[in-house]
Amino acid sequence: MYHPSSPRADEFIDHQEILDTLAYAEAHKTDVAAIDGILRKARECKGLDHREASVLLACALPDKAAEIETLARQMKQDFYGNRIVMFAPLYLSNYCVNGCVYCPYHLQNKHMPRRKLSQEEIAREVTALQDMGHKRLALETGEHPLHNPIEYVLESIQTIYGIKHRNGAIRRVNVNIAATTAENYRRLRDAGIGTYILFQETYHRESYELLHPTGPKHNYAWHTEAMDRAMAGGIDDVGLGVLFGLERYRYEFAALLMHAEHLEAAFGVGPHTVSVPRIKPADGVDPDAFANGIDDDTFARIVACIRVSVPYTGMIISTRESQAVRARTLALGISQISGASRTSVGGYADGEESETLSPADHTEQFEVSDNRTLDEVVRWLMKLGYIPSFCTACYREGRTGDRFMQLCKSGQILNCCHPNALMTLEEYLLDYASPATRALGENLIAQEIEKIPSEKMRALTLRHLGSIRGGERDFRV
Ligand code: SF4
Repeated sequence: MYHPSSPRADEFIDHQEILDTLAYAEAHKTDVAAIDGILRKARECKGLDHREASVLLACALPDKAAEIETLARQMKQDFYGNRIVMFAPLYLSNYCVNGCVYCPYHLQNKHMPRRKLSQEEIAREVTALQDMGHKRLALETGEHPLHNPIEYVLESIQTIYGIKHRNGAIRRVNVNIAATTAENYRRLRDAGIGTYILFQETYHRESYELLHPTGPKHNYAWHTEAMDRAMAGGIDDVGLGVLFGLERYRYEFAALLMHAEHLEAAFGVGPHTVSVPRIKPADGVDPDAFANGIDDDTFARIVACIRVSVPYTGMIISTRESQAVRARTLALGISQISGASRTSVGGYADGEESETLSPADHTEQFEVSDNRTLDEVVRWLMKLGYIPSFCTACYREGRTGDRFMQLCKSGQILNCCHPNALMTLEEYLLDYASPATRALGENLIAQEIEKIPSEKMRALTLRHLGSIRGGERDFRV
């Protein structure tokens, strides 16, 4: 498929400006006055520009680095409280015409079995996900015009929303598919998707073209301008991300923030989420073969710096990361995590059988580092003092894009997200949790009710919780 190239991507991801930013950050990495000034601005919670944020990322003064971390923790607490939103990926198809060298689904990988789920198989996957307790999915497919056309994705979304198994329901389908046309984004919007997520992989054009040697994804501008087309197509919530390890992390960090600034300037609203995946082992993919891998400390610093730079943007971490790394970064800014993920096509319904599949039958996109069940992850979060939230209310109440941002900025989130988190956690506890998780959760809910600032909202939440315990479902404020 031919896509016209455009010079616009190079305007908002300006390579020279990134290089100048990196030089500026290097020059100021021990400049106490500059760093203090940036931290003062960050404390106002209005965000930082890419240059300021890059100075914090480069900061080489241990006491200032500790201040950045403390501020990130504080801002995470102020904007997101102790709620952590839960989701799961759902792989529909691993057919792909692209040549991405870091992904086992690339076209040249001839020994990986190719699989595309039928609508019946999708229904089985969704039933398995509902039986775990999931309410929010991220759809994943490779790019293939014949196997995975937009019509297939749209039909799959309709199937997913239509499955109601016991008390289960998927209430929000986020979509992570290849860059497409504004018209196709409009069709996705009309199908009721939540966030459209597309990882840039790398913002460095030259590296991008080398890492994507073949296929439509080779076109840097087409890929980089996808969010502009998505927003032009009416999708309010878009999710950015880079694959850390492909390029120098400071380059990616500055560019990621420039992308967010561009969306804010062009559409009046920045990204809804930022994801921070790192390269992981997969069939034919050795992370050590990539020269720009980052250690856990650097990774944590990136998360903290994104948190203080874009306070109203959610941050996502997947099961690519271990339990220990997830625990560390949750405190620094992560607001959404996946749980009990299967990164293969059909992995949920295959369930235990997947343990006995021969290597030739495996279709995982990457190795999962956190293999716990959803019940284990939920219990673990609560033991750490978090509220696992299965909430999807904002999107269903039309609070998307700038309307969602207004809610964050007005501080009303405690009167809104907090009750919704408690109500959806109650649903989870009643329908899916083990006795130990349920006992822990009921105690937590009893304590957390008191934190709802508005008396009226507290009373409403208690009433709704009573109805949920009486067997009704799907309350939200
Ligand atoms: S990253 Fe996406 S586009 Fe690239 S090979 Fe993998 S599935 Fe295909």
